Amino acid sequence: MTATFINGTKIAEDIKKEVAAEVETLKKSGIHPGLAVVLVGDDAASSAYVNMKAKTCEQLGIYSRKLAIPSSVSTDQLLAEVRKLNEDDSIDGILVQLPLPKHVNKYAILEGVDPRKDVDGFHSANVGSLVLGHETLVACTPSGVMELLHRSNVKIEGANAVVLGRSDDVGKPQALLLMHANATVTICHSKTRNLSDVVRHADIVVAAIGKTAMVTRDWVKPGAVVIDVGTNKVADRSQVQRLFGDDPARWKDFEKRGYTWAGDVDERSVKEVASMLTPVPGGVGPMTIAVLMKNTLKAVRMRRSI
Ligand code: NAP
Repeated sequence: MTATFINGTKIAEDIKKEVAAEVETLKKSGIHPGLAVVLVGDDAASSAYVNMKAKTCEQLGIYSRKLAIPSSVSTDQLLAEVRKLNEDDSIDGILVQLPLPKHVNKYAILEGVDPRKDVDGFHSANVGSLVLGHETLVACTPSGVMELLHRSNVKIEGANAVVLGRSDDVGKPQALLLMHANATVTICHSKTRNLSDVVRHADIVVAAIGKTAMVTRDWVKPGAVVIDVGTNKVADRSQVQRLFGDDPARWKDFEKRGYTWAGDVDERSVKEVASMLTPVPGGVGPMTIAVLMKNTLKAVRMRRSI
C-alpha cells in the first residue's frame, strides 16, 4: 500500500477562503473582527510566527494588532497589557506568543486572557469546557488535525485512535477532541511501555512528541491514518540522507537553509503501510494559522452571541 498524502496546505487555503467570506458578511453588518498578538522579546522564530499571523489576518480582512513588548517585562506589567486588550471592544481574539521569558509566569498570563477572547484555547475555562464537550475555543493545532481528518473523510467514530504526546497544547486536547468524535482513544507518553505495540493497534495515529522520525513502518497497522504533528529541525547531512535519501526537493531545501524539517513519523517507510499520511512540512503546520483565523471568528460569534 502507498499512502495518500493529506494536503494540509490546500485544506488550510480552503479554510482561509471560508473565513474571508465570513469576514465579508460580518463587515456588512458592521462587525470588524480583530486579533491582537502579543510578542514578548525578540526571539527570531516567535517574531516570524507573529508576522505570519498578522499577514494572514490582513489577507482575510481581519484587523490585527501586534504588541511588541521587551523581554524585561514583569508578569504584572504583561498582565496589565493583556487586561487592556480584554477591555478593548475592537479586539475579539488575543494570542500571547509562546514561549515567554522564564521569569514571566506563563500560567498567570494565559489565565489573564478573557476566556471569550482566548483564541489559543489555553485558558482553564476553555479547557474545562472542552472536557465537558461544550462548544468553546479549542487549541489550534489539535483542532487543525480534526479538520484534516474530517475534510479527508476519515471515519473517526468507533476507530482506535492513539495520540502520542500529552502536552497541554497538543496531546491532551487532541485526545479529548477524538474522544468527543467517538473514537476510542489511548494517550501515550514518555513512560508508556511497549509503545510500538500500542501504536500498532491504532486505526488513527496522531504523533506529537517532537522526536524525529520515531514512528517507523513496523509501528503502524496496515491501512492506518497517520497524522504527523512533529516539527523537528534536521541540520545533519547524514540524517537528511537517512531520512530522505536522494529526494531533490529535500536537498534543495537543506542547501538553501542549512536544515530541513522532519516530523515524528518516518515518512519514507510509513507511507508504504499507512492509507493516509500528512507530510512535514505541508500537513498539520499550515492548519494551525488557518484554525487561529477560524477561532477568531468563533470568538466574534460567541462574545457577541451571534
Ligand atoms: P511537548 O510539550 O514537548 O510534549 C511532548 C510530549 O511527547 C510529552 O507528553 C512527552 O511525554 C512525549 N514524549 C516525548 N518523548 C517521548 C518518547 N520517546 N516516547 C513517547 N512519548 C514521548 O511537545 P508539544 O508542544 O506537544 O509538541 C510536539 C511536537 O509537535 C513538537 O515537534 C512540536 O514542534 C510540534 N508542534 C507542531 C505544531 C504545528 O503547528 N505543526 C504545533 C505545536 C507543536 P511526557 O509527558 O511523559 O514528558
